[in-house]
Amino acid sequence: MEKTLVILKPSAVQRSIVGEVVSRFEKKGLQIVGMKMVSLSDSILEEHYSHLKEKPFFKRIKDSMQVSPVIVMALEGLEAVEVVRMMAGPTNGRKAQPGTIRGDYSVSVQENIIHASDSPETAEAELKRFFLENEIFNYPSPAFVNLYAND
Ligand code: UDP
Repeated sequence: MEKTLVILKPSAVQRSIVGEVVSRFEKKGLQIVGMKMVSLSDSILEEHYSHLKEKPFFKRIKDSMQVSPVIVMALEGLEAVEVVRMMAGPTNGRKAQPGTIRGDYSVSVQENIIHASDSPETAEAELKRFFLENEIFNYPSPAFVNLYAND
């Protein structure tokens, strides 16, 4: 089992599609093991988007992540990191396939609805960044057998 971090960005919160997006993950079979609303500080965003810190558009991205609170989620499943990245689609909503979250809800590079961890290593670091240990839950999934059979 693997855990991954999803952030429902202000573009999801402000357009009132949080429920729809969360529902997609639930329907897919990912287990919600952590979820809360938070306002993101400058320092957490500088750490989270450190790979973009030198880009001219960094301030624009940071500002857009602070327009409203966000929802952070921890999702668990087999190969959850890859599954959730595929559900998100590529960064640019205009290029994302219909059927992906960005493809269905975004026409923007920046306002692309969700963040999703891009590797198991990143997921581990990002979950620690946004959640305390006691905010991630370990509980049985009644649907487990139906979801995975003998995988
Ligand atoms: N972003 C942007 N312009 C760019 C690249 C990225 O506005 O040219 C924003 C966009 O919201 C993206 C986030 O910065 O989701 C993080 O970028 P990254 O390259 O890590 O893409 P992601 O992993 O989110 O697809």
